[in-house]
Amino acid sequence: MPLTSIAPGAYCIPLGIVNAFLIDAGELTLIDTGTPGGAERILAAVRQLGRQPADIRHILLTHLHADHTGSLKTLKETTGAATYMHPTDAALTRRGEVMRPAKPGPGLLRWLLFRLSGLRVVPARVEAAIIERELQDGQVLPFAGDMQVIHTPGHTLGHVAFLWPRAGGVLFAGDIASNMGRLGPGILYEDYAEGLRSLARVSNLSFNTACFSHGPAIVGNARERFRQKWGRPGDPAL
Ligand SMILES: [Zn+2]
Ligand SMILES: [Zn+2]
Repeated sequence: MPLTSIAPGAYCIPLGIVNAFLIDAGELTLIDTGTPGGAERILAAVRQLGRQPADIRHILLTHLHADHTGSLKTLKETTGAATYMHPTDAALTRRGEVMRPAKPGPGLLRWLLFRLSGLRVVPARVEAAIIERELQDGQVLPFAGDMQVIHTPGHTLGHVAFLWPRAGGVLFAGDIASNMGRLGPGILYEDYAEGLRSLARVSNLSFNTACFSHGPAIVGNARERFRQKWGRPGDPAL
């Protein structure tokens, strides 16, 4: 099953260890590109929608890690799409770099996954790719149904999440959190304290559904789940 529906016009493309997402707002927008070699599965998902690879006009990247940027170069060349990323992470992706120093998130599961990633389950480099447009916090992307860019540093310093205002609000959380078995922090962090501040900020946004790069989506009351875990008592929305 190369494609599953999240909401009308929003789709998840499961790619094994990671998910990519597709937005259909007339033009197609892809969020993240999976590991190297994942392009064909993403293009199969596009065909499942009755669309062609060239219908992908925009590729948004949440951050620089290889399970998100791995097939970027191939997909950009195949589709001719414009590419978008926060400048802090784009600087490395343009050189094919996929990692800054980081520490595992809390708990044994994250420590194990962190060790596995160090054993090259994900590659240490990817093909350098062109990033044409740099994303800024608060930016609204009209081509993707007014998708909002939220700079969420912590997992990486240039991580962005995306908030889609349709279907009661759909958060594309990237790796700021994960839902492997249950909702929890990301697998690793460049700065965990910063990551918690980003999660507190996201917990105040308006969304019903949350999609994760690692683990299945939470459909319904997702913001409430985030607030219970990461909202701060002093925040005005609590
Ligand atoms: Zn990551
Ligand atoms: Zn990831």
